[in-house]
Amino acid sequence: MKGWRGRILTVDLDSGKTAALTLAARDYAKQIGGRGLAGSLLFPEVTRHWRDPQLPLIFMTGPLVDTLAPTPGRMTVMSRSPLTGTICDASVGGGFGVQLKRAGWDGILVTGWSPRLCAIEIHNDKVQVPEVESAAGLSPKQLRDRIGVEGSIAAVGRAAENGVRFAGIIVDEHYFAGRGGLGRLMASRNLKYIRVRGESPTPVYDSGELKAARRDILRLSAASPVLQGELGLQVFGTAALYDLMHQRRMMPTANFRRTRFPGAEQLNAPATQKRYQPHSSGCAGCHIRCKKSDSRGRGLPEFETLSHFTALLENHDLEVVMAANQICSATGMDTIEAGATLACHFEILGREPQAGEILDLLQAMATGARPDLGEGAFRLASAAGRPETAMTVKGQSLPAYDPRGAYGMALAYAVSTRGGCHLRAYPISHEILRKPVATNRFSFAGKARMIKIAEDQNAVVDSLTACKFMFFAASLEEYSRALAAVTGLETNAHELQSAGEQIMNREREMNRANGFSDNDDDLPPRFFHEPGSSGSGIRIPALDRNAFLAARATYYRIRENRSPGKRDENTT
Ligand code: SF4
Repeated sequence: MKGWRGRILTVDLDSGKTAALTLAARDYAKQIGGRGLAGSLLFPEVTRHWRDPQLPLIFMTGPLVDTLAPTPGRMTVMSRSPLTGTICDASVGGGFGVQLKRAGWDGILVTGWSPRLCAIEIHNDKVQVPEVESAAGLSPKQLRDRIGVEGSIAAVGRAAENGVRFAGIIVDEHYFAGRGGLGRLMASRNLKYIRVRGESPTPVYDSGELKAARRDILRLSAASPVLQGELGLQVFGTAALYDLMHQRRMMPTANFRRTRFPGAEQLNAPATQKRYQPHSSGCAGCHIRCKKSDSRGRGLPEFETLSHFTALLENHDLEVVMAANQICSATGMDTIEAGATLACHFEILGREPQAGEILDLLQAMATGARPDLGEGAFRLASAAGRPETAMTVKGQSLPAYDPRGAYGMALAYAVSTRGGCHLRAYPISHEILRKPVATNRFSFAGKARMIKIAEDQNAVVDSLTACKFMFFAASLEEYSRALAAVTGLETNAHELQSAGEQIMNREREMNRANGFSDNDDDLPPRFFHEPGSSGSGIRIPALDRNAFLAARATYYRIRENRSPGKRDENTT
């Protein structure tokens, strides 16, 4: 096989035993890699509770990783979510995937529980599971200072060790498998970090053809205003979206009670850049380098972080956002869930945060001093008897696109297989960025099919494991050519899209096996009862419940071939 390394490392933390799992070439071809391959390995065990040590925690690269294909430095981490109970996968950058492939492994499947804090050290074929008790509580930077800079490290921080349910896994200090609490799951096994070093580059089938495919993709990328334009992601990172969401009156403000935040224009990406003069960095091998950090090495906030730690919390101080981002990075907390949980907390209290409170509460969350906050917005609101203040889907807080301003996003949030998530489908691309084709953002017409197609495509992207941002410019047509050049597999965009459909359908099946139903494919009631902030000729009414349910029923018909006669559970 070319592109894939043909073996997956299994590590049993109970015994410390390691082994190589080999799969048939046809399994690789069918599941592709990343989210597809990890999902196929998770499937037989998925009804296990997240605390059950036999539930696998899977790190999986894709066939394009460590090749000349554009954005070849990502991987997927997958298991069940401690936050939602759904399946959970997170795409993460950094250098881990590349090092793992160079070490001769496509992925790592971890089971078991270690009685003492341990690590997994991989150097090519050599794998060890040392005890690392003294690494407890270290931040990613402290860990790197302690164990050295060789190789790539995926680690948990203090928040995961202190029981924060939405703690993620940090790769190479600056990259984050952030959503759903996979870091919490890793910490529950007493696994502090995995370090990998590899020296054998991944062979490809046809390097000439791969170079040609790369040239085509890079040309499309260069021509894309969203990716490489003067106001695009290459210059401003994802914070480039901040102004646009504000302008469109769909910026979640005050825990989604409003959709416009006065003063946001002083906090946008150009304002942030002017103040912090950042430099760029990126995932291994990426030409876009959308990550930004200041001269002190502090990461600039991504769009979701900037939006939730300003508008959602009604905070106008950029330094508070920078410090909040730092706390979340150093301790390993998902910034979306952390910001949304605080916004929920202050709505329950009936007031805005006061000076210093945001940072104090974040520290208390991470150290375990406020375990109620470490449970996330859904459990916090339920425990307070105020469930209406949790702006969540399936128990996970919503990102920074108010669904009253983009109806496709409303449907995509509701049906997402990993809870409140903007990355399963990204209809914002059509509804706001107007790429590849524009659509009416205030209508559900056509959105069910749009969501289904985008979900299937993104399942492929996460399996390849490419970066979704590239698909603002390129398509599966160009990437199928790259995949064929890397692997020698004869394939095309249509076949890949079908593979994505199977991956999506299996994820829905896994959620159903864990008790999720149509009733969970829904939005918080606020969006159906309260309008957003209209003005400047833009009306942001509450969502029409019947139109939403009709669109969802259409989605089920397209996704699951449900007959029109079978009623959507929520309409009965
Ligand atoms: S565009 Fe950004 S997130 Fe995507 S691979 Fe490049 S650096 Fe990583």
